[in-house]
Amino acid sequence: MKKGKKLYEGKAKIIFASTDKNLVIQHFKDDATAFNNQKKANIEGKGILNNRISEHILSALKDANIENHLIKRLNMREQLIDLVEIIPIEFIVRNIVTGSLTKRLNIEDGTKLNRPLIEFCYKNDGLGDPLVAKEHIYAFEWASEKEIDYITEQCMRINDFLLGMFKGIGIKLVDFKIEFGKRKSDGKIILADEISPDTCRLWDAETDKKLDKDRFRKDLGEIIEGYQEVARRLGILHEQTNNIRPIKFPKPIEVKIKKK
Ligand code: 5GP
Repeated sequence: MKKGKKLYEGKAKIIFASTDKNLVIQHFKDDATAFNNQKKANIEGKGILNNRISEHILSALKDANIENHLIKRLNMREQLIDLVEIIPIEFIVRNIVTGSLTKRLNIEDGTKLNRPLIEFCYKNDGLGDPLVAKEHIYAFEWASEKEIDYITEQCMRINDFLLGMFKGIGIKLVDFKIEFGKRKSDGKIILADEISPDTCRLWDAETDKKLDKDRFRKDLGEIIEGYQEVARRLGILHEQTNNIRPIKFPKPIEVKIKKK
């Protein structure tokens, strides 16, 4: 599959055209950002691990009849995916209260939810991806009621599947963010983007040690080791990803305060 021109560059990924008008190539970068782009770093090897981990998870979801954009992994950093029109909503699924929810509602960090909680955030960096109600989604026609019902059902299925998958390897799936899009070839709504330690909170089941992007957000160090541990437990840490030089701290950390 030949790589065409760059179509879009995001914070952690680049999308390139392919020779098929309905397919594109997703490239995973080592760049990491947090707090609405105010904290930035290059974490050597992160893109390779996320490409591999996301491929593994999305393939497993496909096997469980949960449709998604993955066609196949092409190389260490790239995968061939369906071209979709992304719905501008981040779907956050939570099993344990932490992160922004702790702050917003002053609920104790680590509180286990009796049932999964789905939140909707409007994808807009300038606004800091604000939380919105379903009514906003309908009013601004970001998606229809029928589409949101379908996506919500998919979110619950994906959560059930991932909870079990991670439980089996001694990891608590605390929360995660997923995105959906309309497939160009047939207009069907499918899971898109990625599922990786960049987009999930993953805690070791025994110690609650963080194995995800919070290691970067909270300056906990050993970021790559956390991602490698997830890959190792998933049984996909091979020579290439195992040899990534572990770094104790992301370098350089460039702090940019955004002017409003
Ligand atoms: P929170 O709202 O607590 O910051 O995040 C909830 C979950 O969604 C976490 O697993 C977090 O990693 C993920 N998440 C929320 N927003 C984003 C985002 O803009 N980018 C990425 N990669 N993950 C996000």
